[in-house]
Amino acid sequence: MVSLLLRETREDVLACARRMVRDGLVVGTSGNVSARVGGLVAVTPSGVDYETLTVDDVCVVDLDGTVVDGVLRPTSELPLHLVCYRRHGAGAVVHTHSTAAVAVSLLCDEVPLVHYQTAMFGGGVAVAPYAPFGSPELAENVSAALAARTAAVMRHHGTVCLAPTLGKAYDGARQLEWMCDVWLRARAVGSPSLLTTGQVDEVVGRMAGYGQPAPAPTPPATR
Ligand SMILES: [Zn+2]
Repeated sequence: MVSLLLRETREDVLACARRMVRDGLVVGTSGNVSARVGGLVAVTPSGVDYETLTVDDVCVVDLDGTVVDGVLRPTSELPLHLVCYRRHGAGAVVHTHSTAAVAVSLLCDEVPLVHYQTAMFGGGVAVAPYAPFGSPELAENVSAALAARTAAVMRHHGTVCLAPTLGKAYDGARQLEWMCDVWLRARAVGSPSLLTTGQVDEVVGRMAGYGQPAPAPTPPATR
């Protein structure tokens, strides 16, 4: 039977998961994606190839992790996703195993400040200490690394990016991977120059007012 619960959100989650494969942010069945609607979360299932995944395979759980719709088991990283919703106010979460970010996680405690774009996450992105995948300990480590940020790198593992929408969380995952790649390329041939925390904080403030301005209020009609 075809379920209609969160159908549109499930379609978005599926499309995002497939895009992660195409963009090289995950390999095989690794990584996972979720999006929240009210008290429910649509999340990719555990261990299913994204190319054969259907909309009905995307699970729907409540914020305690109880499956309310779907026949497959949700991703083993469900505790990580749920902590992002319960504690960090996420609307969507993208978790990747992207190459450059994992490489940086082996070398640094924070993603080096190579580019002002890190301001989109609220500042420098921390590397969370290693813990086994799917464990409550990993969720806690990532939650601590997130602090006032919207992204974290997980040592020996990958990245997690959260945002109000799936599109923004996915953009964050790509930007974070790109910054890690820039640092690795520069580091391979020299000692990279880095931005200061103050320079990044200045951009964080500017980004708060970035984007399209709100439409001007309609002037009162004149006669
Ligand atoms: Zn993972």
